[in-house]
Amino acid sequence: MAAHRDYYEILEVTRDSDAEEIKKAYRKLAIQFHPDRNPNNEEAEEKFKELSEAYSILSDQDKRRLYDQYGHAGVSGNGGFPGGFDFSGSFSDIFSDIFQDFFGQGRSGRRQRGIRGDDLRYRMHITFEEAVFGAEKEIVYSRLRECEKCLGDGVEPGHTPVNCTVCDGKGEVLYQQAFFTMSRTCPNCGGRGRVVEHPCTQCKGEGRKSSQRTLTVRIPPGGDDGNRLRVRGEGDGGLSGGGFGDLFVQIEVQEHLFFRRENDDIICEVPIRMELAAAGGTVEVPTLEGPTELKLPGGTQPGQVFNLRGKGVPRLHGSGRGDQYIRINVEVPSKITRKQKQLLEEFTNESKPSAYKVVSRFSKEFSKYREDG
Ligand SMILES: [Zn+2]
Ligand SMILES: [Zn+2]
Repeated sequence: MAAHRDYYEILEVTRDSDAEEIKKAYRKLAIQFHPDRNPNNEEAEEKFKELSEAYSILSDQDKRRLYDQYGHAGVSGNGGFPGGFDFSGSFSDIFSDIFQDFFGQGRSGRRQRGIRGDDLRYRMHITFEEAVFGAEKEIVYSRLRECEKCLGDGVEPGHTPVNCTVCDGKGEVLYQQAFFTMSRTCPNCGGRGRVVEHPCTQCKGEGRKSSQRTLTVRIPPGGDDGNRLRVRGEGDGGLSGGGFGDLFVQIEVQEHLFFRRENDDIICEVPIRMELAAAGGTVEVPTLEGPTELKLPGGTQPGQVFNLRGKGVPRLHGSGRGDQYIRINVEVPSKITRKQKQLLEEFTNESKPSAYKVVSRFSKEFSKYREDG
C-alpha cells in the first residue's frame, strides 16, 4: 500500500473540526466514492477504503487523540499502541468484549466503537503449474459492506434515532444482586443506546448488505496445497467505521497427470519397454518446461531413479528450485507373437548368467537352501 496520507486531508476537514463536521464530510465523500455506485472502478475503491480508514480513526475519540499525538504510528497497530485497527478479528473482538464485561457500556462507551467486519475464507482451485510458477487469478465473491444509503447507520436518511427509554441511552441497565449493583446490556436497544424508528429501506436497518466483489489475487511461485494467503481488508465490511475483516484464500491444487510433489521436488513415474531398459537409449519425459530427452544406460532397472537437477519447484522461502526425479517402470509385454517367442529363445541362448545378477544370486541361494533342507 502506498504511503499514508493525512487522515484530515483525506476527509477534507481541518484538525479542529468537531465530530459532527467529520461525520458530515465522511458521509459526503463516502457516498460519492461508494463502490456500489462506482462498479469496476479501482480508483474509487481505493479512495473509499482510504476514507473508511480515516473515518475509523477520526471518529473515535481515543484513536483520534493518538493520531494527533503520534501520527500514523500511533494508530497503525504495528507501533504497539492499543487501539490500532490492525488487530486480527478474533483478538480485537475478545479485547472489546473484555472491556464491555468489565467496565460496562455506559462508562467506557466502547459500544459506540466500530465493529470490525468478519474474516472470510475462499477456496481457490489452481492447477499444478499455477502452484509451481505462481499465478494471478481473478476471484468473485460476496461480502457484506456498508450500505450506500445510510452508510452503516441503519437509519433512513433524514431521520435520527431516538434515545432508548429503557436505559436512557446508556446501553446498559443496572440491577441488584445480593449487595452488588450489576449492569447488563440493555435488552431493549441491544446496548446501542438508541432505538431506530425509521430503519434504512435499502438495508432494512442492518447497516450492511451483501455486495459482489471482484478481486485479483496473486499466488506466489512455489505455493502448495493447503497454503493460506491473507488478503488484508478484503473481508466483510464493519459497522460504524470498524474497518474490514481480512480474506483468507485457501489454495487447493489439482492433481497432475504425471507429476507428484514432494516439497520442492517433483516425482514423475515413466514406464518404458523392457527392450529399451535392456539395450539403453533415450526416452522422452515430461518436465514443467515441456518434454525433454532422458538418456538411459543399457541395463536400466525397474525402480531406478534419475535426477533432473533444478527442474523442480521454485522455493517459496529461499532461492533456486528443487529437482525432478524420474522413476523408471519397466513393462514386460503382456502378449507376444510366435516369432517374438522364437527371438526370445535365441536371446536367452545368447545370454550369459552373469548378465542377470539378481536372478543368478537368487538361484544360487535357493539351491543351497534346498540342499540344506
Ligand atoms: Zn442502509
Ligand atoms: Zn436501551
